[in-house]
Amino acid sequence: HIPVICIDGPTASGKGTIAAEVAKALGYQLLDSGALYRITGLAASRAGMTLDESNEEAIAEMALEMPVHFDAQQRVWLGDEDISLAIRSEEAGMNASRVSTLPAVRGALVDLQLAFQALPGLVADGRDMGTVIFPHAPLKVYLWASAQCRAERRHKQLISKGISANISTLLADLEARDARDMNRATAPLKPAEDSLQLDSSEMTIEEVVAQVLMWWQE
Ligand code: C5P
Repeated sequence: HIPVICIDGPTASGKGTIAAEVAKALGYQLLDSGALYRITGLAASRAGMTLDESNEEAIAEMALEMPVHFDAQQRVWLGDEDISLAIRSEEAGMNASRVSTLPAVRGALVDLQLAFQALPGLVADGRDMGTVIFPHAPLKVYLWASAQCRAERRHKQLISKGISANISTLLADLEARDARDMNRATAPLKPAEDSLQLDSSEMTIEEVVAQVLMWWQE
């Protein structure tokens, strides 16, 4: 029986960082499920497909056959190409959000996600880890922060990478993505009924990690 910790929540809530830190602290595997949607979006748009229902089956088929690989440094490979950077752009995030509304695509990625379960345990980060993929997980955290706060964090992150950005544009993009994630028919973003909610607006990364580890030890 492999223990799974789910960390779900809206975009830019800090899930990725928290999940990676918690996994490191416990020596667990890490599943960045958003990366799978980003890879799918990237591969489909490179293949020249429009990312909507008209290509739902074709994108799902492609998702089933993608030669995806995460290495020990958490770099993401598609075949022999390192796409770690390519999938992190704002555009790649939007494309991920588009393909993630297609039920056949979500279905195609289920087995790939389940296969990340490995001893001694797994930390899974996403939107539907606790509600759909790992419904029996013993700890489900729903991590959120105000939209303004998330836009400011994303802004800081981009500036630190030397990428210029505008907070109000980021805020608008982020709200558009929230709305799409929460309103889609399949696996909409919402807290699992048995999740513990954490508002990280006023918390540091260290405080959030400590809270999750404390819940895990309880
Ligand atoms: O978490 P990240 O921003 O990388 O995810 C990119 C997009 O993929 C999200 O905006 C969301 O639409 C989609 N996603 C999803 N289900 C997940 C993880 C991500 O629908 N479990």
